[in-house]
Amino acid sequence: MTADYKSTIRLPHTEFPMKANLRELEPRMLERWRTMNLFQLMRDDAKGRDKFILHDGPPYANGHLHIGHALNKILKDVINRTQQMSGKDANYVPGWDCHGLPIEWKIEEQYRDAGKNKDDVPISDFRRECREFANHWINIQREEFKRLGIEGDWDNPYTTMAYAAEAQIVREIGKFLLSGSLYRGDKAVMWSPVEKTALAEAEIEYHDHTSTTIHVRFPVISSPRPSLDGASLLIWTTTPWTIPANRAMACGAAIDYVLIEVTEAAEGGLARTGEKLVMAKNLIAPVAKAGGITGHQVLDHFCGADIVGTVCAHPWRGQGYEFNVRVLQADYATDEEGTGLVHIAPGHGAEDWELGMANGIEVPQTVSEDGTYFAHVPMFAGKHVYKVADEVAEALTTAGALLAKGKIVHRYPHSWRSKAPLIFRNTAQWFISMDTNGLRDAALAAIDETKFVPEGGRNRLRGMIESRPDWCVSRQRAWGVPITVFVDKTTGEPLRDPAVLERIVEAVAAEGADAWFTSEPSRFLGDDHDDARYERVTDILDVWFDSGSTHAFVLEDRPELQWPASLYLEGSDQHRGWFHSSLLESCGTRGRAPYDAVLTHGFVMAQDGQKMSKSLGNVVAPQEVVEQFGADILRLWVVDSDYSEDLRISPEIIKSQVDIYRRLRNTLRYILGNLEGFDENERLEAAKMPELDRWVLHRLAQLDERMRQVASSYQFHGLFVDLHNFCTNDLSAFYFDIRKDTLYCDPVHSRERQACRTVLDNLFSCLTAWLAPFICFTAEEAWLVRNPGEHESIHLRQFPQVPQSWKNADLAAKWSHIRNLRRVVTGALELERAAKRIGSSLQAHPIVHADDTYRQALNGFTEAEISSLFITSGVTFADGPAPADAFRVDDIPGIAVVPGQAVGEKCARCWKVLADVGTKPGHLDICGRCANAVGHALVAAN
Ligand SMILES: [Zn+2]
Repeated sequence: MTADYKSTIRLPHTEFPMKANLRELEPRMLERWRTMNLFQLMRDDAKGRDKFILHDGPPYANGHLHIGHALNKILKDVINRTQQMSGKDANYVPGWDCHGLPIEWKIEEQYRDAGKNKDDVPISDFRRECREFANHWINIQREEFKRLGIEGDWDNPYTTMAYAAEAQIVREIGKFLLSGSLYRGDKAVMWSPVEKTALAEAEIEYHDHTSTTIHVRFPVISSPRPSLDGASLLIWTTTPWTIPANRAMACGAAIDYVLIEVTEAAEGGLARTGEKLVMAKNLIAPVAKAGGITGHQVLDHFCGADIVGTVCAHPWRGQGYEFNVRVLQADYATDEEGTGLVHIAPGHGAEDWELGMANGIEVPQTVSEDGTYFAHVPMFAGKHVYKVADEVAEALTTAGALLAKGKIVHRYPHSWRSKAPLIFRNTAQWFISMDTNGLRDAALAAIDETKFVPEGGRNRLRGMIESRPDWCVSRQRAWGVPITVFVDKTTGEPLRDPAVLERIVEAVAAEGADAWFTSEPSRFLGDDHDDARYERVTDILDVWFDSGSTHAFVLEDRPELQWPASLYLEGSDQHRGWFHSSLLESCGTRGRAPYDAVLTHGFVMAQDGQKMSKSLGNVVAPQEVVEQFGADILRLWVVDSDYSEDLRISPEIIKSQVDIYRRLRNTLRYILGNLEGFDENERLEAAKMPELDRWVLHRLAQLDERMRQVASSYQFHGLFVDLHNFCTNDLSAFYFDIRKDTLYCDPVHSRERQACRTVLDNLFSCLTAWLAPFICFTAEEAWLVRNPGEHESIHLRQFPQVPQSWKNADLAAKWSHIRNLRRVVTGALELERAAKRIGSSLQAHPIVHADDTYRQALNGFTEAEISSLFITSGVTFADGPAPADAFRVDDIPGIAVVPGQAVGEKCARCWKVLADVGTKPGHLDICGRCANAVGHALVAAN
């Protein structure tokens, strides 16, 4: 081409760079938003609109963010931004969970490393160190969250350790106290001897553990079944350390039991010839094998109900274990394992405790908080339960009670923090009753009123609420909100006095929860109560009660928010955690859920579906992705994933997001490049546009509808896929491709060019807005190219109102045929190009055989218009059958294409091969259209 023509072609031009360089762009944008105070501008802008409140589930302030945090917060941000741009006021207050064992554990670790003893440190000093630790990590996490582009009230977040929050938590537990729902019970709870505290279900992990198993004889003293005279009942247990706490035995009423006599015993075994033993009939073989019983005869058959009421001696009778061991009946006894007779230690198992309580059996205090036996326990005082299995077995052997000893590997509860095995232990704990005041029923009713996304969350939460025991809210720790209760020393009853509660709340609001530990009781008890009569509870609250109360001190207390929340959004494990505790807290104090809807997302796994772990080397840290590629890439990964299930991430997956990002960026760049100098006079109304351009407007109207649906369904994944396909398939590979010639070569004021530029302007308006919640940095970058004002931001916009009149189903159906036709034609030309028979598609003039459907779709189009759709210089529709070697595409029947060469001269400006090249005077090497355009260009230049 000659230099003259080059200057008359309007190639795209924009300052929006091809290469993103997000690492440099994103911090610059963050600084811009900070300087202009974007968050406040968004609030001002949305003033008076309906509120959408996504209440932040607080992350725990004890380390750098991991990829799960990034997923969670980005999802929240996408939803908030979408709501804000849909016309709501979506104020977002991020928060942190600060109290609890993990931080306490860290500080204790530091003490241990420094050779300090926690018990020597005043509790207020210890609590201050925990508070400083939490603050330190809040500041780090805050910066890391902001770097991800999360918009929110970062200057005024909530924390569970703020004095006002602690005071409200005290007020909340006070409501349960005053209503009678909070009670002190004596109960076997999951206990960690290492951390010296009761654990919540969410704090328990199950791991394989090797335990010693023992078969133990309990000699019969008396029985309703006379044949049992002189026999022993046989139990089997995997926790030998609970034998000192044995107080009963259980059988299944309908299970078949037998009395056997040992006739032959293996040498070196513990079975004795002539002894009589009782066990389940189905378990004779395994018991015989374990105990070395090589021969036996059955003396009697009976069912469990026949031996209920049998009294045995504890194996260590005569050594301090003088009580009777009664045989009770229990539904949970089975004959699938062991001996069919269950040893009952009411202080060391939930079922054992209940059975003991129901039958008036003593619940002994056997094991202290550190896992050692109390001083009053005969034979084992001071010994640790973890280390006593062999000694128990030995003492049983000496007493003639051990029949067998073995090992078993089984799933056993461990502390999620210390990884140490747990025990059930009888302790005094505080409980919120599920049923005293109808809390269970209220919570179940609230679940019915709540929207769950996905819907499966409803039954999950319902199942948990239906079957859960009373909520154990006490922990024997220091870093938390105290259970601010006084207990009457003589009656054991908690003091329920609203005036006392109010004094405590005031003190905590002013001085923090430390006030409970450091003040004289009289400060709270006042003149009405004699402080000598009361004991102050020093347990702290389960942290789940803290976070379950956030709705009270965040949503209710802040006028800019509202209660209940529109949405709670967390990982699917929070049915057991935050969704659950918030529901109970709110139903117990306010009679309904603190949320209208609950959305759950899956967990992040490595590419192969494995859990991420340092040892496997497959951990993807959000900080590294951001540093290397940019936060927008991580944000794309979130919306491009189906987060209703577990998500995968790996360097390869990140790379595919970079490719997706590049396509989106190129789309924006193409639009910007071709919109340079667009002015309102160019704008063409839709009715005056060619069909192709109206088809793009139709697609915009469709996507607009999708966008508005998603704003209420939160299914962003599908929407993002649609948007990405729109940019890639509808725009880049189709519309932009076809309209390149019009944009570059047409006269400035051609109708086609004006139509296309008008469409591009609409595309810019819609795409920057729709992409803003997803790639918040890049959308802003693009927006500012055309709207450079100091106070401008894409994030201050709402989604544009796309005219519904743009929707045109008939047009869409017609154009789906045309696109199919085009696919076959371009497929044929692709082959020609590959065979080097043509250089560009503009050298082609295909002969098209097509069914009526396609011919009708193109009715009214000129040959030039159809050629431009195919990017050829001409096209002919042929009648009659197509030659056998014509090009066809299997899934698009009814079309066959014979590629042909265009006849004419190549225009030196637009490269089309046309018959009218050189027909305009003075323009011998260009076509008529181009001659026209060049004339305009010269006029424009003058
Ligand atoms: Zn031309």
